[in-house]
Amino acid sequence: MPIKRDAGIARHASSSAPGARSIVNVGYRSTNFWVVSAGRSRFLVDLGWPGMFGALEANLKRMDIPLGEISHGYATHYHMDHAGAAQDLKRAGMRLVVFDVQAPFVAPMAKWMKPEMHYTEITLDDNTVIPLAEGRALLRTLGIDGEFLHTPGHSDDSVSLVLDDGAAFTGDLTWPTLAGEGEIDVITRSWELLRSKGAKQVYAGHGPIREMP
Ligand SMILES: [Zn+2]
Repeated sequence: MPIKRDAGIARHASSSAPGARSIVNVGYRSTNFWVVSAGRSRFLVDLGWPGMFGALEANLKRMDIPLGEISHGYATHYHMDHAGAAQDLKRAGMRLVVFDVQAPFVAPMAKWMKPEMHYTEITLDDNTVIPLAEGRALLRTLGIDGEFLHTPGHSDDSVSLVLDDGAAFTGDLTWPTLAGEGEIDVITRSWELLRSKGAKQVYAGHGPIREMP
């Protein structure tokens, strides 16, 4: 089962003190879903595959992260492997944070879904929709310090999170050396923005943790 193989490949804690910031991967099916914690305050980066909330629940359990402690979460972008279980998480008590640059992309995700995917459509009237600039204050309420940045390249709604200690969650932002000709400028600008905000380690939506390119 991919659940067992993939989950928890990256467990990283800045210190073992209670309340310390930690990052745990609860991903499956080759997509990373990151739980950023400050003690028992938890923020989820990327939100599961459609119809596979059970796999996410199982991974959280295996990593000793109570689902009920995940108070907030966001999708780096609204593709099915990053936001597919968002509504299921909301039903379990998570508050979905949608940045204003992402808002127009939430509803259209449904049109890519087939019935056999068992996607739960994301409702629009009960999310926390805020400008990027308000993300820091929201994180602070959880004891986490960082900033959300618009980093288009892979998709126009791509939003990265850079924690003040340098951990950068970049979703599917294309690696600079893999950028095609027509997209190289926008991708280069996104990586420059990340670098200017202190990004050091890259926690992407797929693959291992890497140093900033
Ligand atoms: Zn994507």
